[in-house]
Amino acid sequence: MPSASPADNELALTTPVQFIPGVGPRRAKAFERLGLRVARDFLFFFPRDYQDLTQIVKISDLQDGEVAPVLGEISSVLVRSIGPRRSLLEVVLDAEGGSLAAIWFNQPFLEKRFREGQMLLVAGKTKQRAGRWEVTHPHNEIIESDGDSVAGKLLPVYPLTEGINQGAMRRIMQSVVERCLGDVEEIFPESFCRDKTLIGIQEAIRGIHLPENQSNLEQARYRLVYQELLLLQLGLGLRRAIRAKVSTAPKLEVTTKIDSRIRRLFPFDLTEGQNVAISDITQDLAQSHPMNRLLQGDVGSGKTVIALYATLLAVAHGYQVAIMAPTEVLARQHARVLGGFLAKSRVRTQLITGGLSRSQRELALVEISQGSTDVAIGTHALVQPDVKFSKLGLVIIDEQHKFGVRQRAELKDDGPHYLVMTATPIPRTLTMTLFGDLDVSTLRDAPPGRQSIHTYLPGEDERDKWWNFFRTQLDQGRQGFVIAPLIEESEVWDVASLTEVYKEISTGVLQDYQIGMLHGKMTGAEKDNVITEFYNNRLQVLVSTTVVEVGIDVPNASLMAIEGAERFGLAQLHQLRGRIGRGKHPGYCALFGDSTNEKAMERLQAFSKTIDGFELAELDFCTRGPGDLFGTRQHGMPPLRIADLLRDADIVALAKRDAFDMLATDPGLSGDAYHKIRDRVLLRYGNVLELGDVG
Ligand code: ADP
Ligand code: MG
Repeated sequence: MPSASPADNELALTTPVQFIPGVGPRRAKAFERLGLRVARDFLFFFPRDYQDLTQIVKISDLQDGEVAPVLGEISSVLVRSIGPRRSLLEVVLDAEGGSLAAIWFNQPFLEKRFREGQMLLVAGKTKQRAGRWEVTHPHNEIIESDGDSVAGKLLPVYPLTEGINQGAMRRIMQSVVERCLGDVEEIFPESFCRDKTLIGIQEAIRGIHLPENQSNLEQARYRLVYQELLLLQLGLGLRRAIRAKVSTAPKLEVTTKIDSRIRRLFPFDLTEGQNVAISDITQDLAQSHPMNRLLQGDVGSGKTVIALYATLLAVAHGYQVAIMAPTEVLARQHARVLGGFLAKSRVRTQLITGGLSRSQRELALVEISQGSTDVAIGTHALVQPDVKFSKLGLVIIDEQHKFGVRQRAELKDDGPHYLVMTATPIPRTLTMTLFGDLDVSTLRDAPPGRQSIHTYLPGEDERDKWWNFFRTQLDQGRQGFVIAPLIEESEVWDVASLTEVYKEISTGVLQDYQIGMLHGKMTGAEKDNVITEFYNNRLQVLVSTTVVEVGIDVPNASLMAIEGAERFGLAQLHQLRGRIGRGKHPGYCALFGDSTNEKAMERLQAFSKTIDGFELAELDFCTRGPGDLFGTRQHGMPPLRIADLLRDADIVALAKRDAFDMLATDPGLSGDAYHKIRDRVLLRYGNVLELGDVG
């Protein structure tokens, strides 16, 4: 009987949320904010975490001095003063077999967190004192129980929104799972599940929302993560196939003659890594379908030469090249550098930026459209609709992480071969997933002649020694930076902290030297002025916020002290440290940080041991998670519901390989075995990946 009427006790997967028992129109609005519109959406709305109440210890079973999780109802919350500016917060729990007092010193504000009658989970070293059990500064979680008994369970914790609490969410989720689970269709063939040791979809959905135990949860999660990543990889694979089939590109083959004519323009031999990247690129360019390649390499690793090689190969075949940079400064720099290499050639370049006058721009556009310009260099000003190329063969995008994917797509209609360059080393997992449809070349080694940089982590008692060294170096003619700590996400505070550091240093350890100050609140002219003074060595030391991390190139600067170093991400520290050791003198960098913060100190230790940007990016990714630096959204990728690129790195690799195998045996996924999978790929990723014409 077809039905989805409010009176019906049965729920269909397509039943609107407001007709789910216990929801109603008001809550339905709130659920909609979470993207939950029909019953089915609940099943695929996954917990962000779990509260583990499976290991709860009864009061009578506590051992003195052992760490134990205890669950109880709060019977009292009390703060009292125990001296000047000292306080004690005591939260007493009624637990099975007795009571326990959780104690916090000097954190009176925590009081607001707790209310009588709440269920609270605490975990810490329990001690018996004066006849009662205590735990000091425990890990603690408030458990929203909604009246049910929760002990012994693995409780899911869902993302929430205003108007929905955890208890209500759990209750509604449970009812949807119980009523609808039977209607969820399996998309994997049975034999596939067996081969890949995957549990069935219904079991997996039950296990993720109502796990029986840890191993049940793990199996459920594995199945769902694998599925999500496999579908993504299949979507990327289908897209790649469409692109290869639909679009053609000029075959730009390299000959010995072209190769030697290009290499003659370089005043140095290419490094091994550069040669490998060039060989990747020339193989791509020789195909009649478009190249789609990402070239990643740290700042200074020598990407420009590779771009130039590809450019000249295209020009040798009579094609035009567009080179895009994220900022006007970088576009100008490219034009200048390329102009230098090309001084003795007949290649005609043209700079297009927002700064051109109208008549200059019109003239430039005519030259591009008539084909008298070989290489157009510019910012996003290059992707305006009035820019028409006569014979565009290659598009090179520098620093692509600053471009939206949309902008890439706009150019796409014009340009057949694509080379994207990035200086932000992207961790392997992310490369595999986000750029699964791009081929990747990586430059790991810097060109010869780089100076070494020594990095130190002096303790507070070694400050004098460091500043002695700093002064000796200044006396020998070197220059240096002092970086002030980041206070908040607020420039006003950063400036305050900077002024403080400046005052301290200019009247203290460096009082006999010329010191300047640089921060983001200064006008462009003020910044230019200070940088010029520093460049000309009229200022010996620059006290600065992180604004120096972009583009300041003063070869004589060899010293850097970073205060509050633990507050910076490794990628940021890497960029900062990259400001020294650029000339003929080795660099010396000291990191001062909060030595009581063990985790942070470990990170800084690791940082001091390598100058490899890739290693650091992996480390940063591992310690901070991908959110901070490489948000998936920022790359224009569909958000993942359950997979975590860091935690699930192994599954990413597996899914990629499996997707590859599946597409090799059935390129359109149209056979009996895979067509359900294909339908799901299209449903989930069809729009984002523009898979419209598959099928
Ligand atoms: P990136 O664009 O990757 O940041 P660049 O291409 O600007 O790096 O190269 C950095 C510097 O190294 C430039 O001055 C460049 O001329 C020089 N360089 C590049 N390749 C080599 C090489 N093989 N040998 C010596 N110097 C090189
Ligand atoms: Mg560059």
